[in-house]
Amino acid sequence: MDAAAGELRAAFPAGRLVFESERLAEYGKDESDLGTFPPGVVVQVDSAEEVRTIFAIASRHRVPVVPIAARSGKSGGSLAIHGGIGVSVERMNRILDIRPGDLTAQVQPGVITGAFQAEVEKHGLFYPPDPNSLDLCSIGGNVAENAGGPRALKYGVTREYVLGLEVVVPTGEVLRLGRQTIKGVAGYDLTALFVGSEGTLGIVTEVTLKLLPRPRHVATALVCFPDVDTAARAVSRVLAEGVIPRCLELIDDVSVQAIARGSPFQLPVGAGAALLFETDGNDEEQVFAEMARVAGMVQGSASGEVIVAQNEAQRRDIWETRKYLSVALKTLAAAKLSEDVAVPRSRIPEMVARCREIGRAHGLLVATYGHAGDGNLHCNVLFDGDRERPAADAAVAEVLRAAVDLGGTITGEHGVGLAKRDFLEYEQGAEVIALERRVKAVFDPLGILNPGKMFPES
Ligand SMILES: Cc1cc2nc3c(=O)[nH]c(=O)nc-3n(C[C@H](O)[C@H](O)[C@H](O)COP(=O)(O)OP(=O)(O)OC[C@H]3O[C@@H](n4cnc5c(N)ncnc54)[C@H](O)[C@@H]3O)c2cc1C
Repeated sequence: MDAAAGELRAAFPAGRLVFESERLAEYGKDESDLGTFPPGVVVQVDSAEEVRTIFAIASRHRVPVVPIAARSGKSGGSLAIHGGIGVSVERMNRILDIRPGDLTAQVQPGVITGAFQAEVEKHGLFYPPDPNSLDLCSIGGNVAENAGGPRALKYGVTREYVLGLEVVVPTGEVLRLGRQTIKGVAGYDLTALFVGSEGTLGIVTEVTLKLLPRPRHVATALVCFPDVDTAARAVSRVLAEGVIPRCLELIDDVSVQAIARGSPFQLPVGAGAALLFETDGNDEEQVFAEMARVAGMVQGSASGEVIVAQNEAQRRDIWETRKYLSVALKTLAAAKLSEDVAVPRSRIPEMVARCREIGRAHGLLVATYGHAGDGNLHCNVLFDGDRERPAADAAVAEVLRAAVDLGGTITGEHGVGLAKRDFLEYEQGAEVIALERRVKAVFDPLGILNPGKMFPES
């Protein structure tokens, strides 16, 4: 590492190298609660060419390279578990081009997702992927994790919007993958391979994104239920009726307790669970008619209250409450482990029930909320520190296996990273993992890029 650091000092201005331990510790953390794993040095890069220089140095000295963006990740993907060189793309934060005529945009990877959305909206355009961390996370991190969000139900996840990528691979090539057009089928779809590859195949230095015209009207409503089982069954019913709202979010009874402790929007007394949903479109009457239809479908089992957001402030309060639920849950217990399984939509009621039973068996509370409309549930195992940690770990393992047993996946959007690498085989099997390792070796024959992530450590 010392020799590599020496070469980095010669190749980069001192102001773009971080060696101080306090600052390195910041780069060594994300939102996964897995601990602090600082790299030996961080380089704040400005271009693909600079990333190429870093790979050359790292290859010569067999030093790990870890891509780091906004560090909002929840699976530990950006943690430098084997030290090495952290490549921070924070300075590559420019929107290069927005082309309303083509409905596309070109951005650097460090652009903050929410800032990009706000910018395209000024042109009457719409970038739908909306992770709840959108004010923190970056487009590059979203591409690496194939991030989703509430609107994925109607509009899909990041993958659906990535047309092309510029990527630097550890062997030194700067690859321009994909296309600038909406359609195009030439060659293997390597763009899709890189989306969701969790920073294990290459470092993304530019992204071409698809945009949509912005829907002119959005209606937001909350429906309260006596209990979570009734709410979960209502999700399945709405989707089975052939209605796809723009989002359909589940809030369970434990989450309701957390909200009661001071979230911006307060649910009516007696609510045991809730569904938050939105409809959108260009015709205001139609948007509200669709909202009434969804409300009608679920109301049969609702505890009576359908709350329609009356203005932008109320809508914002409802969404702030939902967005920061994971933070609010920390008022109920000293610690939590947060999983983001996904199951086929018809199995949502079963998955919710299994999470509760698993918690009960281990004497722990499990809060289940999330993007239930697309089957993606955030199961949060709450516990009180070191004494309960083994029980919490056991509960998490059971939650992940239950999702796979119900035909689902261990991660709907947060990625495998470090957090779930030991469970990938349960979902995919040894043969598929062996093939994936061979694919990685094509781009990264020395195994220097983000080692120890996604696959079980061999
Ligand atoms: C409160 C909260 C809410 C969240 N809600 C959602 C949600 O609704 N949906 C969702 O999908 N996620 C959500 N997340 C998780 C997180 O925000 C996403 O995974 C996000 O995509 C991470 O982006 P980032 O810029 O912070 O990346 P980081 O955390 O810095 O990195 C994530 C991964 O991407 C890799 N990486 C970063 N940049 C590059 C690059 N340029 N090239 C190659 N690899 C790279 C890193 O090595 C790492 O493996 C939430 C997180 C929080 C804290």
